[in-house]
Amino acid sequence: MSDKHTEEKKSYKVSFYLKNPITCPVCGNIFKKEEMLTGRGRLITKDITDELRRRYEPSKKAGELMPLIYPVTVCPSCYYSAYHDDFPNIKDEYIEIALSQKVKRHHDITLIFPIVDFKKPRNIFTGTASYILSVSCYAFHPKESTPTFMKALSALRAAWLFSDLEQKYPGQNYEKVGIFMYKKAMGFYEQSIEYAQTGEERIDNIKHFGPDLDKSYGFEGLLYVASMLVYKYGDDPDPESRIKMLESAKRTISKIFGRGKSSKSKPSFILDRSKDLYEEITAKIEELKTG
Ligand SMILES: [Zn+2]
Repeated sequence: MSDKHTEEKKSYKVSFYLKNPITCPVCGNIFKKEEMLTGRGRLITKDITDELRRRYEPSKKAGELMPLIYPVTVCPSCYYSAYHDDFPNIKDEYIEIALSQKVKRHHDITLIFPIVDFKKPRNIFTGTASYILSVSCYAFHPKESTPTFMKALSALRAAWLFSDLEQKYPGQNYEKVGIFMYKKAMGFYEQSIEYAQTGEERIDNIKHFGPDLDKSYGFEGLLYVASMLVYKYGDDPDPESRIKMLESAKRTISKIFGRGKSSKSKPSFILDRSKDLYEEITAKIEELKTG
């Protein structure tokens, strides 16, 4: 690569700062939020993974763009974090405790990423860290913000970014942390289905189910991802309990079939994928039974 080319890539603008500053509801720090520029032709879409993650081709002009590193707002001073719309909505009674945990948040994140700086433009390290921080900070949010689902989504996206990190920088234990985050996501997804059923956290309060940014797959997507996570990451050394987990995942998927024909909110894409997953899980259960 010529020096000129490198120079061009360096100066290519990938993000910008929103004009109106944000005030951190926890520490009062004032800062600006960074967003990715989303002009025509910047993002070249590739495929969608079995976890409903959208993949992109690097563009010749801009190189690799990572839309996933921007959605979580992080206060660069106290590291309080939440998705943009939820950021101001911390419960009043939790502000003091959230502030008192500032040092803990800094410390915990440096155990994974020794150097992170949220004053600088986002990169894959701060992007991944933003999701981990938001998992802990949603504990301070009211149930109207569906905190359990937001934790699930953040844990899943963190796991995705850890798999990218593992590819870019192998041998740094990123895969191991990633699997830990997948398991966290699995637990939160399961809990969020439970809360949807009991009414503890209303699913219709969720604005974007994701799981990725480009598309929201609705409640069906949530059910699908929850079952997929159990199938892929819900290992249990005891075959009996593993079978129980998988059977429960099957019941979750059958809720997708039970919710009527495909519609705008339930693309046939999810139905087809769910049928495949149902069959894979059935085969896995058979294997364990005869194993
Ligand atoms: Zn703050």
